[in-house]
Amino acid sequence: MAANMTPRERFLSALNRQPTDTVCVANPTSLATLDLMEQTGCFFPDVHLDADKMATLAAAGHGLLGYDTVAPYFSVINEAAALGCKVDWGDASHMPTVRGHLFHDPDEVGAPDDFLQRQPTRTILDAIRILRRRYGDSVAIVGKVFGGWTLAYHTVGIESFLVSILDEPDRVHRFLDRLSKITVAFAEAQIEAGADAITLGDHLTGDLCRPETYRDFLLPIHQELARRIPCPVLLHICGYTLDRLDYIAHSGFAAFHFDSKNNAKKAVEIAGDRIVLIGNVNNPETLLNGNEKRLVAEVNAAIEAGVPIVAPECAVPLNMESKWLKRIVEVARGR
Ligand SMILES: [Zn+2]
Repeated sequence: MAANMTPRERFLSALNRQPTDTVCVANPTSLATLDLMEQTGCFFPDVHLDADKMATLAAAGHGLLGYDTVAPYFSVINEAAALGCKVDWGDASHMPTVRGHLFHDPDEVGAPDDFLQRQPTRTILDAIRILRRRYGDSVAIVGKVFGGWTLAYHTVGIESFLVSILDEPDRVHRFLDRLSKITVAFAEAQIEAGADAITLGDHLTGDLCRPETYRDFLLPIHQELARRIPCPVLLHICGYTLDRLDYIAHSGFAAFHFDSKNNAKKAVEIAGDRIVLIGNVNNPETLLNGNEKRLVAEVNAAIEAGVPIVAPECAVPLNMESKWLKRIVEVARGR
């Protein structure tokens, strides 16, 4: 065991496969719940476009729940909104959603000159700055960006994009090339604002795409992102991913944030020492239902399998009780 560490040191050590003083518990994705909004007075949908409120709600993840990280970008659509997509910002118990697409041809893709100054992107950058001022070097700040695959779902439309995999693979490659430039620009701005690590959501999930699709279309782009984004990148893909984890392990990313649909032991076996795993407590059955027995079993199973950073599998359900998020920390640290 290492000497006492700050939460930031613990998180960064775990990401680097170095020893930690106790088990690292972190959140690459949102910890926002309705009860945390009530406790902080910072509610959806205001927090998505108000940096002070965004930072205050994110800080609850450390201050009220004890996580080693704070992550201020709660939803998935701020880039799409800043690019000009129509967005429904939702309400206190609903995540925002994209309501209309922007691009049909890859040549149309590009970020406006003021992309990073537009309110949906600027809010996240300002929230990171506020959190960095508040915490100094003590708590790890996790930014978040979306990769070309997910940005295509939002700006091109899932169906129109996925149909091209078979019919017009070149269209897919060109979309990914162009959209990924937006990913890099937003990641660099978040690092400059003070992010220690960046979650990259890029949802090439098992229910929609074959593992070879990841290898042929996304892996080269991810390897390029790993080279260009100058901080640890935590790839997040929901759902079943064991069948593509070997390819993901070739990405060069620091970590993979994985879902409870994947057995932790098998995931560790495939990942080896190529990529650090973060996860994988179940959201709908364990956290939303408040199933404590399952929670304890899942936290212990992840740690015993060799997962160095324990976390909920994805953005947590807004209407769950946050005491179960705190319970993850207690179980992980009380061993
Ligand atoms: Zn997810």
